[in-house]
Amino acid sequence: MSNFQSINFNNKKALVRVDFNVPLNDQFEITDDTRIKAALPTIKKIINDGGSVILMSHLGRPKLGPEEKFSLKHLVDHLSSLLGISVKFCDDCIGEKANKMASELNAGEVLLLENLRFYKHETSGDINFAKQLAELGDFYVNDAFGTAHRAHASTTMVANFFQESKSFGFLLENEINSIQKVLDAPEKPLTAIIGGAKISSKISIIENLFNIADNIIIGGGMAYTFIKAQEGKVGNSLVEDDQLETALKIIDLAKQKGVNLALPTDTIIADGFSNDANRKQCKIDDIPAGWMGLDIGEESIETFKNIVLASNTILWNGPMGVFEFSNFEDGTKSIALSVVEATKKGAFSLIGGGDSVAAINKYNLANQVSYVSTGGGAMLEYLEGKRLPGIIAIQQKEGFRIS
Ligand code: AMP
Repeated sequence: MSNFQSINFNNKKALVRVDFNVPLNDQFEITDDTRIKAALPTIKKIINDGGSVILMSHLGRPKLGPEEKFSLKHLVDHLSSLLGISVKFCDDCIGEKANKMASELNAGEVLLLENLRFYKHETSGDINFAKQLAELGDFYVNDAFGTAHRAHASTTMVANFFQESKSFGFLLENEINSIQKVLDAPEKPLTAIIGGAKISSKISIIENLFNIADNIIIGGGMAYTFIKAQEGKVGNSLVEDDQLETALKIIDLAKQKGVNLALPTDTIIADGFSNDANRKQCKIDDIPAGWMGLDIGEESIETFKNIVLASNTILWNGPMGVFEFSNFEDGTKSIALSVVEATKKGAFSLIGGGDSVAAINKYNLANQVSYVSTGGGAMLEYLEGKRLPGIIAIQQKEGFRIS
């Protein structure tokens, strides 16, 4: 049984950090409620146990205190209808009013606090601000993976005031379990598919994966830097000239570690960065001048597909090409379908970090893979091998200390 499931919240006031940083339109209507829905199991579990819930979150990036467009009051009606109860709202997240509303909360009730980031003390990780938040509840639950890599007051510092009465919620527990299935005890072979625009933003991940992966598939814009580094002709393709050495180092490291580094062998090229550009297929190291590679080619798709289908654990981060353009999305879509096929055959598949999540959603395949992570930056830092403050703060009895 999950640890969170085993906790009995009867008569407890749970202070729950959620990620309700949802997009709002000009009329302050929620345009995508995925993040709210993702937190519902945790909230419902506490209510059903006979506890009450005090929800805290950030919304957007307010600069100088309260701003109408970033108020969490815009979420109250929708949250109430999703939960089937009338959610209370406090227009502050600390202070007398918040204390009073929290203390008057009855079992089964939910109170939503105003945006934490209306105080600059939230992002600075101010310990006194964290203490004021902590006074509102008698148990702390962190269910916000998207901010777990930040040592903010509500995600990390607040845990110092709860000793043993603190836990991850269902969502964060699932995130951690899924990543650990890949990083800590993967069923071999483990294949990491790394794509996206630049090597520079993925280098730490690739280096960390060399310790555990059997295959590392490279696609997307970053592939052309590897090809140029090996003296291939890449035309106008995206290249980071200051990363050519790094690319060669990665190729060497793969040999040393016995990891199969799979680079594309062919590519779909365009004569401009546009969906309507002329397109053709060629060898990836023989791109004519004036043309640029915007997707992987058929031969690469076939090779990558075979590797994916022979894997028992798959991690996918980053698209294989400019999948936003329908004429250059075949590589990304095909890889997504291979990951789905491998999952059907029993592999564990984790999709995480930014644009691969957007891609899997674009093709409506999110429910056909094992897990789609909700945290962009947090997921990337986790994959780099970093220990996230929001996670340490719950795991360690003494909480998190800034050294
Ligand atoms: P990242 O955020 O680093 O994962 O990069 C994702 C972005 O890389 C997407 O917006 C893709 O359109 C872009 N991308 C992927 N392949 C290429 C390519 N061959 N050339 C230029 N951009 C690319």
